[in-house]
Amino acid sequence: MKRFHPSPPETPFYDSRKGVDRSLSGGQSPPDDTSWGGTPGRSKDTYEVPGEHVMMYIGQPTQLYIRIPEPKEIWPTLRDRDGGNPDNRNNKESIHVLLIEGTGIPDHDVEITVQMILPSGGHDHTNQPPLEMRGLLTATGGTTATGNGEVTARTNAQGGITVTHAAPEFGGRFELIARAQVQGKILEDRDTLTVRVPDLVELPEVNYYELIGRTNDHPSNHWATQLVMENIQSIAMAWFLLYPNESPISINDISLEYGGLFDVTGNWRPPHSSHRIGTDVDVRTALPGLRSGIPTRTPRDATDWAATTWVGNINFEDICRVFNGEPELHSPDSANEHYHIDF
Ligand SMILES: [Zn+2]
Ligand SMILES: [Zn+2]
Repeated sequence: MKRFHPSPPETPFYDSRKGVDRSLSGGQSPPDDTSWGGTPGRSKDTYEVPGEHVMMYIGQPTQLYIRIPEPKEIWPTLRDRDGGNPDNRNNKESIHVLLIEGTGIPDHDVEITVQMILPSGGHDHTNQPPLEMRGLLTATGGTTATGNGEVTARTNAQGGITVTHAAPEFGGRFELIARAQVQGKILEDRDTLTVRVPDLVELPEVNYYELIGRTNDHPSNHWATQLVMENIQSIAMAWFLLYPNESPISINDISLEYGGLFDVTGNWRPPHSSHRIGTDVDVRTALPGLRSGIPTRTPRDATDWAATTWVGNINFEDICRVFNGEPELHSPDSANEHYHIDF
């Protein structure tokens, strides 16, 4: 334990552990130490109780702290199909909570809540995700408790609680909020956590493909890994060079800026079940009489696409495979029909 200088003459304080007014006598001010909770100067009120080897914070009100360790950033929770969360995709944060008044206050209820900061992560809609989509909290203190998005646990003998937060499935910025009620007063502290798939890059605007599918809820929908960006650009350029009389490919959703669940309709749920890590790319197919795109239906000159038949486009599919993509038909026989390319 850190050593402190003896305390100054007759400093009064409230001993929350014993519930009595006490005072310290004799000594000088302790050394300055700003490692405590990032509040400079605070430790000037820190003294060791003579003969008890107990560290006291004198003259300070009751305080509640929540601290997320650096770099305060984790991956979203991913499905097994996306490779899950091995060690290099950590999706769990271990967060410390402390309730203190002189010494830690033991056996006291603290509520921990997760709230999304909106807009963030590529989600421009401002509806909070439901609690069950904000990540599982496991709090261990005097008691252990779990809950989705919120949990209440009791402090341990030192006034502390350790909270493990398993990330939500979507990316964004989140506030972890601790609240406790002490002697009729509500105490609150918060810290900010980023949940994201790191290193995604945004597809630039160029003349050999078209970027489509931006919405008010998700105005930036073309974030990919560097490798996938290069591959989809190569596919688009190869198509453009081989078939100059066809329209350039129209690239719809890839991933959001922070990755994670891409809730197309802004309700924090699929239908996009993939598109989480910048490795799935949607490309529009033509619907004769309705819209241009990769030609996949016959007859091509039909005026009602519903009267046409899907035949696919082996040339386009071959180009995809040359550049490490596996094209699949998604939403067949609907106005949302498209090639989904899995890299
Ligand atoms: Zn969204
Ligand atoms: Zn898709």
